[in-house]
Amino acid sequence: SIPLGYFGGVGGAAKRGILVKGSVFLDALAQVKTVVFDKTGTLTQGNFRVTEVISKNGFTQPQLLELAAQVESQSNHPIAQSIRQAHSKSVDESDVQEYEEIAGHGIRAQIKGRTVLAGNDRLLHRESIPHEVCTVEGSVTHLAVDGEYTGRILIEDELKEDAAAAIQALHSWGIQTAMLTGDNQAVAERIAQKLELDHYRAELLPEGKVEALEEFLHQASQAKGKVAFVGDGINDAPVIARADVGMAMGGLGSDAAIETADVVIMTDAPSKVAESIEIAQCTLRIVW
Ligand code: ADP
Ligand code: MG
Repeated sequence: SIPLGYFGGVGGAAKRGILVKGSVFLDALAQVKTVVFDKTGTLTQGNFRVTEVISKNGFTQPQLLELAAQVESQSNHPIAQSIRQAHSKSVDESDVQEYEEIAGHGIRAQIKGRTVLAGNDRLLHRESIPHEVCTVEGSVTHLAVDGEYTGRILIEDELKEDAAAAIQALHSWGIQTAMLTGDNQAVAERIAQKLELDHYRAELLPEGKVEALEEFLHQASQAKGKVAFVGDGINDAPVIARADVGMAMGGLGSDAAIETADVVIMTDAPSKVAESIEIAQCTLRIVW
């Protein structure tokens, strides 16, 4: 016989802005015991705001911000957008040459014959550039010119309004929660505490996110549970592909993430993740 409940489930979810790409994923969703979230753009809004510019070695604050806006002029990363917004003037993109975006690190480019770096602690470390590290400063983009440290830009992102409620709902159903991020340890720890997440892993490269997810898959499979991963896309497609249920935020998300995902959340709200599990569980009850 045809399991009518499945059709109701996929269609019912769609009406609530949750696109499930086949009834098999509703089945899997109903068995989810661990939900792993990406941080930026998934639990947080992904609109960073520049809060402070700290310039060093002869640079003024406006000069440093201009340099940062220039080197970030071709990046889609939420950090790049926030720096361009804070600078607010247009920059000459044709000055930027040999542009290279290094996943999980930042950017290296030539600007008027000088080598400019913009990125995190890991990038400067990799390039052996002595720099200041202050863990209470939150998310930081460091800048260096021709091997010399020129300062940093502090940025802040806000949690999505319904993030805490979504985590609470999952916990109340006995589902574990975790967060993976490329951002620094101090930022990750603060968010994990605020949201009462069960686990978090910080300072991960894109391939490190896949490895961390594999650990959760291994643990969950021993308890016969499934693992969902929710991401917004930038560098997340491989993790979305690896999860039992790969979920993408459809509004902010990249095309690659939306294509790879088993479930697409159209409104980008974390509470929709909890709602999709609830719908899947109801649907299973109707079917069997
Ligand atoms: P996440 O979304 O978890 O932060 P990403 O892989 O997108 O993971 O980025 C990891 C880290 O790499 C960022 O937190 C940032 O420190 C650095 N980074 C990546 N791209 C840029 C960029 N365009 N400018 C500055 N820093 C960047
Ligand atoms: Mg990301």
